[in-house]
Amino acid sequence: MAGSEAAWQAAEMGVDVVIHEMRPKVATFAHKTGNLGEMVCSNSFRSDDSEQNAVGLLHWEMRAANGLIMSAADAHRLPAGGALAVDRDPFAETVTARLRSNPRISVCSEEITALPDSGTWILATGPLTSAGLGAAIQAETGREALAFFDAIAPIVYFDSIDMSKAWMQSRYDKGETEEERTAYLNCPMTKDQYEAFIDALLAADKTEFHEGETAGYFDGCLPIEVMAERGRETLRHGPMKPVGLTNPHQPDIKAHAIVQLRRDNALGTLYNIVGFQTKMKYGAQADVLRMIPGLQNARFARLGGIHRNTFLNSPRLLDDRMRLKSRPNIRFAGQITGVEGYVESAAMGLLAGRMAAAECLGRDIAPPPPTTATGALITHITGGADARTFQPMNVNFGLFPPVDGLKGGRRGRKDRYKAYTDRAKADWQGWLRHSALDVA
Ligand SMILES: Cc1cc2nc3c(=O)[nH]c(=O)nc-3n(C[C@H](O)[C@H](O)[C@H](O)COP(=O)(O)OP(=O)(O)OC[C@H]3O[C@@H](n4cnc5c(N)ncnc54)[C@H](O)[C@@H]3O)c2cc1C
Repeated sequence: MAGSEAAWQAAEMGVDVVIHEMRPKVATFAHKTGNLGEMVCSNSFRSDDSEQNAVGLLHWEMRAANGLIMSAADAHRLPAGGALAVDRDPFAETVTARLRSNPRISVCSEEITALPDSGTWILATGPLTSAGLGAAIQAETGREALAFFDAIAPIVYFDSIDMSKAWMQSRYDKGETEEERTAYLNCPMTKDQYEAFIDALLAADKTEFHEGETAGYFDGCLPIEVMAERGRETLRHGPMKPVGLTNPHQPDIKAHAIVQLRRDNALGTLYNIVGFQTKMKYGAQADVLRMIPGLQNARFARLGGIHRNTFLNSPRLLDDRMRLKSRPNIRFAGQITGVEGYVESAAMGLLAGRMAAAECLGRDIAPPPPTTATGALITHITGGADARTFQPMNVNFGLFPPVDGLKGGRRGRKDRYKAYTDRAKADWQGWLRHSALDVA
């Protein structure tokens, strides 16, 4: 996804491109063909609503930027209500044919196993980056900075948390500053609530691992349901331990268990549920998590999961032009940068392709503003997210700087999302004009 879009964008800007794709010579456990732009699992690009949905807005931005992935998806659209579902084989065949027939692009069927010393490169090798290249990246970045599994705890919009039940406090009030002493958001449970929660957790539908996905995922990221299977009290001694915290709403009552959430972005609009990585299916997961007092009306920016996924600690390693700080001739794009999903990956390819092409032409393109969907994503992965807890992220409105002066509630949310997307569209058009001027 990302590599195809990057190559297309760079060629459109007048730069010659070589795509190095290891398939079909070297296979992955998920890809089935040698085509570029292969969709490995679902055939959905999710919502196509560019007024009320952040991924729909990303579609809109990529269409406005003459994106190859969106134009092939539109050409092979299947009926799916408000979602953009795609006929996967003709889609990938179109992507492949348009890239192969472009006079500025050549495709070389080979695996890259070392980091290139010179030339302008974009590494967009995805969640299933080959082992050889993974080792080379780790040798450059350090072991801790390249993960082979994600362990995503669910992420909640702060404005959907009921603060009449929850409160802010770090365990034992630890921290030098007031901000540190109130860094966590706490949700208390009585014994009955805890027991009901464990029952629901054990009964919930879980996703099975894909073949080839399992090895080694348990290191330090046990799913909560696996912890609960080991004993009903295990979570109370792990991520739900109730010690060192006092509920200001009921200071005399000792909570039986406490769920903690931690800020997930610099804006403070998103909170992740600490230690709550899970393989519960999405529907069941939302129901179970809303049993937590304070989260009864929670809206989720993303639900939890554990997958085979190669990704960088981008906030630490990449600059705002997606270049590896230690080797600026190499850019990263796509899922390996810590975005998640076909559309987000293609969007990061679009940016990397344009930025790399500009560089080849002796120019520079600034990143798009964080008020756009593409800009919100690049801002998140290259600095907005906390590097210490970085996990892959879908696009969502929690990544956008808030629009002031709009009230909450259901109607308010509709107006707010419309305000976000109106602002984004205007700013994206501005960025397109500006970046086109830069390379003219
Ligand atoms: C099992 C699985 C299921 C998924 N399901 C979904 C889903 O349903 N919906 C969704 O939106 N996202 C899904 N994803 C995430 C999905 O992979 C990404 O959204 C998207 O494909 C990532 O795009 P990308 O361009 O970063 O990587 P990819 O599309 O994977 O492209 C990377 C390319 O690099 C090639 N490559 C790897 N290493 C090398 C090397 N060393 N040299 C040369 N070429 C190399 C690969 O063969 C591949 O063609 C899934 C991922 C996995 C692993």
